[in-house]
Amino acid sequence: MKNIRKSYFIGQPNELEILHGIDLTVWPGEFVAIVGESGSGKSTLMNILGVLDKPTSGTYRMDGVDIHAAADDDLAEIRNSKIGFVFQTYNLIGRQSAQKNMELPMLYAGVPGPERARRAKEWLERVGMADRARHQPNELSGGQKQRVAIARAMVNNPALILADEPTGALDSETSRVVMDLFHEMHEKYHKTIVLITHNTALAEECQRVLTLHDGRIVAQRKGSGVRGTL
Ligand code: ADP
Ligand code: MG
Repeated sequence: MKNIRKSYFIGQPNELEILHGIDLTVWPGEFVAIVGESGSGKSTLMNILGVLDKPTSGTYRMDGVDIHAAADDDLAEIRNSKIGFVFQTYNLIGRQSAQKNMELPMLYAGVPGPERARRAKEWLERVGMADRARHQPNELSGGQKQRVAIARAMVNNPALILADEPTGALDSETSRVVMDLFHEMHEKYHKTIVLITHNTALAEECQRVLTLHDGRIVAQRKGSGVRGTL
């Protein structure tokens, strides 16, 4: 990202600039944390990184593609095939089994039925949720829902995982389990991960920690890159 700005237009004459020129490079295979107080623009930045929203100005290249120049169809394709999303509120579809939730992004990506079922089963197994495949979200704990959501983010083999406060609603023990899964996705499956978190101990476990303040990156430091004992 180069000089990314984002403004919201909330009625005359109020143009409200939220991101004030973000320069950011995330390298393939990196595990980066973004921290910052509430309202500092983390989710706004994440939505642009995830091609869910467009910047008002600035340039963004994602895996070799100039996002600004891409057509809407291409953006949908990029979102679907190159990016896996994990949210604080899980964003699983209610009244659908974990299995069906897993299959949805593959359905959008045109993966044939038997392959969808196979991959869903494989990823549920990898996050320790194979025995909950038929359960609906309301029959799962927060930690279990997040494990399904992480597995779902992986099924299309994305280049990038974006996680917006994935442990924000979880107790510390469950946060540990979820964070360990991100480490596994990074180490074992070589995913590039950008993790937004309020938890400074978890941020320190990433390879690089960026601090956002009032829509600017005001600090960057190295993290340990390895899981802690928390
Ligand atoms: P964070 O995720 O760091 O808490 P956000 O990116 O959600 O911060 O929000 C940053 C700022 O942008 C906040 O002041 C918020 O009120 C404002 N904001 C976010 N979305 C919109 C929107 N759609 N319209 C107007 N203002 C918005
Ligand atoms: Mg946010």
